[in-house]
Amino acid sequence: MKVLFSYLNRQFGTDKSTLNGKWHYTDRIFTALHDFVKTGDFTLGKKLQEFEEKFARFIGVQHAIGVNSGTDALILSLKALGIGHGDEVITSAETFIATAGAIAAVGARPVFVDVNDEFEIDAEKIESAITPKTKAIIPVWFTGNAPQMDTIVETAKKHDLPLIEDSCCAIDASYKGKKAGAWGITGTFSFHPLKNLNVWSDGGIVTTHSDDIAKKVRLLRNHGLVSRDEVELCGINSRLDTLQAVVALQMFDDVSDLTNKRIEIAKQYDDAFCRIPSINIPPRHPDVRHVFHLYMIRVQKRDELLQYCTENGVEAKVHYPIPLPYQKCFTSCGYKKGDFLATEQDNASIISLPCHAYLTDEEVGYVIEVVTKFYA
Ligand SMILES: *Cc1c(COP(=O)(O)O)cnc(C)c1O
Repeated sequence: MKVLFSYLNRQFGTDKSTLNGKWHYTDRIFTALHDFVKTGDFTLGKKLQEFEEKFARFIGVQHAIGVNSGTDALILSLKALGIGHGDEVITSAETFIATAGAIAAVGARPVFVDVNDEFEIDAEKIESAITPKTKAIIPVWFTGNAPQMDTIVETAKKHDLPLIEDSCCAIDASYKGKKAGAWGITGTFSFHPLKNLNVWSDGGIVTTHSDDIAKKVRLLRNHGLVSRDEVELCGINSRLDTLQAVVALQMFDDVSDLTNKRIEIAKQYDDAFCRIPSINIPPRHPDVRHVFHLYMIRVQKRDELLQYCTENGVEAKVHYPIPLPYQKCFTSCGYKKGDFLATEQDNASIISLPCHAYLTDEEVGYVIEVVTKFYA
């Protein structure tokens, strides 16, 4: 049996086997696009506005502003806050490069903080990373799990620092009933093909309660134009294509169902793997809705398991093998081995197993069987 990490072939491609094609979207999307292209309403169109309004309501914020990517959502959030050269921004040492890359892209310096046992920024360690140059904190909802938002909000308030949430991979996640993207001055989301809500290439969105920030991000994504002829501030072209909003709208109402299925599968994995002493499952909390963008665990003999999975047709991955602060691109930040011990240990022991709404019961059972056999 082959169990793939990606579900794109089942969502859009030739494999309509899962649930008799219930969550196969290609035909529906093409029908919607057929009507859409005839309108010629391509740039900042009505369908984009409809999607933004729906998205804002779903997250529970006043505004959602569609942009080119999750990375741009982060960059424009930083720019809207006036963050740039000479500034420092605190973020997690264990995340996708885009989080820290966005900070560098506006000319600021990423200041990394080590993680807790849930792959999330260690809220207790944030305060000691704050300097007079710190201008914002970016907690990451890494893997679709919640960072300790209440503690982080408190620290941010105490030091009068804005929070930008990197909730790029955490649509529909929540902590204590409040959704990812509704905690910070902004939340940022990605619609990359491998995210829980995806489009047909790149896309992203910024969420915010603030009228002022919403106005700035709207300007920044569209050259700073207040009218056809007047430019209020220097922006870029980072509009979410209306065409991609049409794609997203076709799947949007299913997001919670698709997510629930992921959560169910993760629970099956947890129940099976908690009996294997060589596997360490991060703590789970009843007040966190972890949406399992990644089902990531710590294991002994990781590289051997990875190889065994590959040999047996289970496509597993490592997110990520090299600690972000030690990447070549951050050499000038001056970090060295030993600075982020928890992240280093994770990078050597984590593995991500296929976990998505399109897996069949047989496939989930097979993944469990392969991993269990390896440690038997
Ligand atoms: C995917 C992702 C991003 C970047 O989103 P893009 O749309 O690919 O630019 C940023 N941060 C995290 C944590 C992500 O998972």
